Amino acid sequence: MPRPISATISLSSLSHNLRVVAQQLDGTAAQVKRPRPNIWAVIKANAYGHDIDNAIRGFSQAEGLAMLDLNEAVRCREAGWERPILLLEGFFEPADIAILDHYRLATAVHCKEQVDMLAAAKVAHPIDAFVKLNSGMGRLGFPEEDYRAAYEQVQTLQACGILNSLGKMTHFARADDDPVTTQQQLQVFNQLTQGLPGKVSVCNSAATLTPGLWASLPDHQEQWVRPGICLYGASPFADKSAAALGLRPAMTLSAKLISLRNIPIGAGIGYGHAFTAAAPMRIGIVACGYADGYPRHAGTGTPITVDGVRTRLLGRVSMDMLAVDLTGIPQASVGSPVVLWGEGGPSVDEVAQAAGTIGYELLCAVAARVPKIVIC
Ligand SMILES: *Cc1c(COP(=O)(O)O)cnc(C)c1O
Repeated sequence: MPRPISATISLSSLSHNLRVVAQQLDGTAAQVKRPRPNIWAVIKANAYGHDIDNAIRGFSQAEGLAMLDLNEAVRCREAGWERPILLLEGFFEPADIAILDHYRLATAVHCKEQVDMLAAAKVAHPIDAFVKLNSGMGRLGFPEEDYRAAYEQVQTLQACGILNSLGKMTHFARADDDPVTTQQQLQVFNQLTQGLPGKVSVCNSAATLTPGLWASLPDHQEQWVRPGICLYGASPFADKSAAALGLRPAMTLSAKLISLRNIPIGAGIGYGHAFTAAAPMRIGIVACGYADGYPRHAGTGTPITVDGVRTRLLGRVSMDMLAVDLTGIPQASVGSPVVLWGEGGPSVDEVAQAAGTIGYELLCAVAARVPKIVIC
């Protein structure tokens, strides 16, 4: 018997979440009488820990897939994905361009070095590219003062058959919490891309789910939004739950109780005795620890569900185990099901908040040793 822990991946929840996003975009599109943006389903980091192959199946209705690892992109083509694929960081060395060419991968172009590598490349089929502007994220993208010149240079590569279609992209720093900064970035983007032909891609999950944001861009441009986290059923917003957004958790991390005991008042639990009992109580030990990807910084009080009852974690998370409070769960026994997060348990966002991080990190960090069970 393997350890009783697994991550269940629901393909129907992945599809459901994509539908929720598409329907919200459809609603706005109908109001403003514009076509709805195409959706790049973002599947970087092994589909936020859900496995690329599951994402390909769950997001079969998406117009495109976006990620940043060339191997993941090739995996998508080999699995039969025919529609567009975008590499969000583009390519890293000249040899990568042959892979873009061979597998028909669209690329972000965010720096001068990439333009130079393209200019020196020989390709069999011109490559689709999105030229990225740093409108205030301060991460990737041409600085404002260089953007138009870079775009013109890229247009010459289009004219000589190295590049095919061109687009403009940028990334928001605070779409989840600060509309003022987001509007400033949009203004910079609109100003610097004004009159430049090509598709547009600006929205991550938070921006995609902010009603009307995409519709505030000029209406003659074909748009591609880039939602990631929401497609996996976690929230991009600190103050709005995934459930309130109509999303379903695509990953459920579950385990079992492997031991139970009654402890007397004053007894310490686990490393550092970070929890000591204020009264006699019953506790359980769960077969899940930080080596499974459960956050070690989640402390006493972190929500967890045992046998369908919501309770709390006690003390410090160990490498392979953690302790839970069984007060009010008298039926619990060895083998009782435990949900760490997901369907039938707390949301990954609640656990993340208790650990001082975000759901993204927990989903990506589920360890390879945790077997995945795929359900429809
Ligand atoms: C990760 C990423 C996204 C998706 O972000 P979410 O917050 O998960 O929706 C979109 N665009 C780029 C460039 C990214 O790196």
